[in-house]
Formats: sequence, C-alpha cells, structure tokens
Amino acid sequence: MAFSSDCIFCKIAAGTIPARTEYADELCLAFHDVNPQAPTHLLVIPRQHLVSLAHCAPQDAALLGHLLQVAAELSKKLELSNGFRAVLNSGADGGQTVDHLHVHLLAGRTMHWPPG
Ligand code: AMP
Repeated sequence: MAFSSDCIFCKIAAGTIPARTEYADELCLAFHDVNPQAPTHLLVIPRQHLVSLAHCAPQDAALLGHLLQVAAELSKKLELSNGFRAVLNSGADGGQTVDHLHVHLLAGRTMHWPPG
C-alpha cells in the first residue's frame, strides 16, 4: 500500500502521530480535525497515500465510494440528523493544505453557500 514518509496523514494512519479516531477499517480511518471549523469536524482518509481527488484514477472509484459511505455512516452514528456537509478540497485553489486525500465531514451549525 502506498505510504509517504513525509505525509502527516500517512503517519496518523500508521499510528505514529496521535489522532482522535472515530472510525477505522482496513481501507480508511476517520478522526477529528485538530482545528475544527464546525462543532463536528471529522476527516475521512484512505490508508493508502493518494494526493488528492485530482490524482485519482478509475481504479480508485470503489475506494472513493467507500470514503463517502463511511462519511454517511458516521453521520448516522453521530446523529447528525439536521444535516452535514462533506467536502473534498483539491489543489491550491481548492484550499487543500494537506496533500493526502481526505473528506471533511462538517456538522453542528448551518453551512453557508457559496463557500469562502
Ligand atoms: P485541507 O485544508 O482541506 O487540506 O484540510 C486539512 C485539514 O487537516 C485541516 O482542516 C487541518 O486542520 C487538518 N489537520 C492538519 N493536521 C492535523 C492533525 N495532525 N490532526 C488532525 N487534523 C489535522
């Protein structure tokens, strides 16, 4: 499985950097964002090092679907019945700051549109 030794999310997936983990399976894990932008702010990441959505190939489709499915399951587990927002920032203009694919799961307040 692809691992990048200078990637903070690879280190979280490997357990060498601590995180408040909410969910984990063989393909992905979900943990609380260290700088939350909403009362609930989780990151769902693949264990495999993928830089961003722009770097995904057709063979990554099942993994991408799994990340979204896990986000949906977490919304049920955490009883986010009033709604939530799932976001993938990609690249500089997308606001991506950590170059390891992740889905933000944000909830607990009303989100605005358009996003900043
Ligand atoms: P993005 O800006 O879309 O790349 O999102 C990266 C997110 O990772 C930001 O919301 C950061 O607050 C979060 N983050 C960075 N380092 C950590 C960490 N060690 N543990 C948890 N979240 C982190």
